[in-house]
Amino acid sequence: MVYDNDNIFAKILRGEIPCDKVFENEYALAFNDINPQAPIHVLVIPKGEFVSMADFSVNAPDDLTVGFFRAVGDVARQLGLEKDGYRLLANTGDNAHQEVPHLHFHILAGKKLGPMLSR
Ligand code: AMP
Repeated sequence: MVYDNDNIFAKILRGEIPCDKVFENEYALAFNDINPQAPIHVLVIPKGEFVSMADFSVNAPDDLTVGFFRAVGDVARQLGLEKDGYRLLANTGDNAHQEVPHLHFHILAGKKLGPMLSR
């Protein structure tokens, strides 16, 4: 799948639209989800043009791969989520209902999250 430069997270990375930022370094940006599904709902995105994990895992340079995954862990730690726990998920493609075609991890927390999948 070709990366769409007009997707909403690309615009956020370019600073063209605002976000409610919770973390940023040279590899990743994290911000609160605009339509939270849990008391804490943060999105972590890599700084680069990647549609999905399949794209990222093949095409991201090593420093970005390491930096992005460290950033996901850092965000969860900085939010204080280690003790009570959290859910990390990445919707990918149509079956998972991925809406934004820029790789993103959801961090969901702040309550008992229930079963992993709705039935
Ligand atoms: P997904 O279905 O995994 O692609 O999730 C996309 C997520 O992006 C949804 O949870 C949306 O609420 C969220 N979202 C869309 N636009 C924005 C925005 N401008 N700022 C923050 N979150 C957004």
